[in-house]
Amino acid sequence: MKQIFVTGGVVSSLGKGLTAGALGALLEGHGFRVELKKFDPYLNLDPGTMSPLQHGEVYVLEDGTETDLDLGHYERFTHAVLGRKHSLTSGRIYESVLQKERSGEYLGQTVQIIPHVTDAIKERLRAVDEQADLCITEIGGTIGDIESLPFLEALRQFALEQEREDVIFLHLTLLPYLRAAEELKTKPTQQSVAKLREIGIQPDILVCRTEREISPDVRRKISLFCNVSPRAVVEERDLQDSIYELPSVLHREQLDALVLERLDLRPRRAYEDIWSGILRRIREPCCHSRIGLVGKYVSCKDAYKSVYEALAHAGIALSCRVEIRVIDAEALESPGAAELLKDLDGILVPGGFGTRGIEGKIFAADWARERGIPYLGLCLGMQLAAIAFARRVLGWPDAHSVEFDPQSAHPVIRRLDSQRETASLGATMRLGSRTCLLKTGSLAHRLYGEEEIFERHRHRYEFNREMEEAFESQGMLISGRCPDDGAVEILEFPQHLYYLAVQFHPEFQSKPWQAHPLFLGFLQAALDRARDHA
Ligand code: GLN
Repeated sequence: MKQIFVTGGVVSSLGKGLTAGALGALLEGHGFRVELKKFDPYLNLDPGTMSPLQHGEVYVLEDGTETDLDLGHYERFTHAVLGRKHSLTSGRIYESVLQKERSGEYLGQTVQIIPHVTDAIKERLRAVDEQADLCITEIGGTIGDIESLPFLEALRQFALEQEREDVIFLHLTLLPYLRAAEELKTKPTQQSVAKLREIGIQPDILVCRTEREISPDVRRKISLFCNVSPRAVVEERDLQDSIYELPSVLHREQLDALVLERLDLRPRRAYEDIWSGILRRIREPCCHSRIGLVGKYVSCKDAYKSVYEALAHAGIALSCRVEIRVIDAEALESPGAAELLKDLDGILVPGGFGTRGIEGKIFAADWARERGIPYLGLCLGMQLAAIAFARRVLGWPDAHSVEFDPQSAHPVIRRLDSQRETASLGATMRLGSRTCLLKTGSLAHRLYGEEEIFERHRHRYEFNREMEEAFESQGMLISGRCPDDGAVEILEFPQHLYYLAVQFHPEFQSKPWQAHPLFLGFLQAALDRARDHA
């Protein structure tokens, strides 16, 4: 198994996850099967309990693991289906070491970072998919952070134990441009590479984020001071139109050729480029649509990452430029609300937790239903569509979710049975992929073109099945159910072109080359309605 380790230096947010994902895409283009892992140095066991405002969205894998949003990039750039072993934090490593210590497995030894913690990390590095040819592992954080030291030490040891051509280190760094000097500055890169070398890691490839072209002189300088060949200084210019440019940018820079050469691999087939076609559609849209996303975590651009991407994928499929208007749900609770929702072709309410902004989202769900504007509700967005319907159409003004009003006489959304006994907040939700059966002839069924589907979940509350009859009597259709217990997974309002709300998170399964059917249907409906109203 060949391994590629991706580290980052100088500053955070350089796009290590995107670079790792794009490299995975290139290697798939050459016929290799790749898997991707992320090791995060923080102490949380997983990001499940972290606020999306701080850390961006929590991405959910098929097996229910709650992970960092970079795993979303990996799954969107490649065909890899990731699981628990692909996401690791220091917290998890320490947890396993401490459990071993308590059960006496260290036989009286003093338990230390080296070798016990590093051994535990190396064990995780060795846990790879048998079918994969290559594994790309990204180390979160920035070189120089205290927390990442045990990981880097483990990588150094691991590399030492492997054949030279089986492991390479790729370091992502920044070349800031100083306007006053009219120069790209290489010192921060030199220093971060020096820090890596201090630990005993010599990067094989430097990928340099830059807003300008790297001149041959600068390239030579980086090569000399950082001890890499000039060819291994790869320019990663800021992207213009879309993150999906990245595979093509890195291919032009011959990163893939370089990686294969260093790993002593020959391409399995002529390079298959799926990205140029995708880019052409992004750059030459033939229509435009304005979608309102009504959310709570609007100040963080990563909080709804997968939702934005899934909308973009539908745009790619329909050659449509999707303009997303991000609307703060709380702002819909004051008099200017109508102004904010004006001129939208579609409204999307994504998932969320906690009371803030709830009434604003309910307002948006009503607004769409009452005007026939295409509506897509995801998880919380489904629960709130149900509450909106119960209040306005069924005439239960106190209808609510017990998450927000435990005393409501009309608890339209109730706690899941499995959740009644749980007080802990970590990894205790209904998580991961579940089967859902679709009602024949429903909108959902037409869009998926299948009767049985699998979607990822992350929730604690569910539609109250005692209310089903009342909902259906007034025209709400339950079009998807979990076959195990009959739980309601999809609500739709067939009187409208597209009013559909799902208990799961379809955004986690959308791909740039294959938009998710629900997002595709939503955008198509938004376009159709706009055309009819033009
Ligand atoms: N807060 C809701 C629940 O726990 C919705 C969760 C979500 O949107 N992911 O059921």
